[in-house]
Amino acid sequence: MNLHKITRILVTGGAGFLGSHLCERLVSEGYEVLCLDNFFTGSKRNIVHLLKEPNFELIRNDLVRPVFLEVDEIYNLACPASPIHYQHNPVKTIKTSVMGAIHMLGLAKRVNAKILQASTSEVYGDPRVHPQKEEYWGNVNTIGPRSCYDEGKRCAETLFFDYYRQNKVNIRVVRIFNTYGPRMHPNDGRVVSNFIVQALLNNDITVYGDGSQTRSFCYVDDLIEGMVRMMDGPDEFVGPVNLGNPGEFTILELAAKIIELTGSSSKIIYEPLPQDDPMQRQPDISLAKEKLNWEPKVKLEEGLKKTIDYFRKVV
Ligand code: NAD
Ligand code: UDP
Repeated sequence: MNLHKITRILVTGGAGFLGSHLCERLVSEGYEVLCLDNFFTGSKRNIVHLLKEPNFELIRNDLVRPVFLEVDEIYNLACPASPIHYQHNPVKTIKTSVMGAIHMLGLAKRVNAKILQASTSEVYGDPRVHPQKEEYWGNVNTIGPRSCYDEGKRCAETLFFDYYRQNKVNIRVVRIFNTYGPRMHPNDGRVVSNFIVQALLNNDITVYGDGSQTRSFCYVDDLIEGMVRMMDGPDEFVGPVNLGNPGEFTILELAAKIIELTGSSSKIIYEPLPQDDPMQRQPDISLAKEKLNWEPKVKLEEGLKKTIDYFRKVV
């Protein structure tokens, strides 16, 4: 009998874009991985290749309901992440963030597991400070169409730090900036997937506003590396820590780059800017560099090429 204990890791939202990459990485490293998902935005297709692995298990569950599992670590990723998905049922979105956090923190407390929260740059809202450092408290509308997501994620951070102070739960909080790569949902409305799909179909590229708003795009492999380093790092460093690529681009620059890389004949058209759309976003990642010795390696062009190759097979 092998008495060597293998770390058992729960990944909530494991069938989604980021979750599936994380599960893949953890399975390949020999951990026992439990992937929990309600398949709202995730899909079995994203993890079907893992189902044959003896150290991978799939659980269909909705995080607004409690679940009891024996695990050593929890990565809490369950939550729709694209604006059209999280605004589809805003009450459900905030319930997923808040009740999901309560249920997972309760589980972590009960079984003494280490738990990492996938928070977001949206906690900074439409930032008045640029680039964004972790000390910045943000500029968030409490009652707008994005609030269900932003405030849900802010409340989840609060819960993490309250469980940490009150119950000594071993927490980690990462704030993820816009991340892209293979397995993004082709219809999730996020800018990278939208533009690539539009370009591959030679449809118009829909730039919202005048395209001068900025985002900083991180390739998925870099992001997963940062998350795992945070989970495996010293218990004293709980975050929050920014994870993202500081390379900042306007949306128009992104559109031009994608047209060039796909060789598309698409034209750019302009549509109204959605309410509360942040004008600029760029992570200051000095803390992640210092504490985790982490920084992204994949340049935008290289990551876009890999993502375009993926979408060529999907579209
Ligand atoms: P995604 O929509 O692809 O994945 C989310 C997953 O959670 C899906 O598989 C979905 O089915 C599942 N889910 C949703 N509600 C659930 C519920 N109530 N119970 C169980 N499962 C549920 O999105 P993603 O891009 O992979 O994002 C993953 C996490 O990372 C999210 O928490 C998101 O807020 C965070 N994040 C992502 C980005 C990004 O750029 N991708 C940026 C910041 C933060
Ligand atoms: N955007 C755009 N065209 C699209 C989709 C998005 O111009 O087809 C813009 C959007 O208004 C925002 C930026 O791209 O300014 C990033 O949008 P996304 O939904 O990907 O992420 P988030 O706004 O949550 O950062």
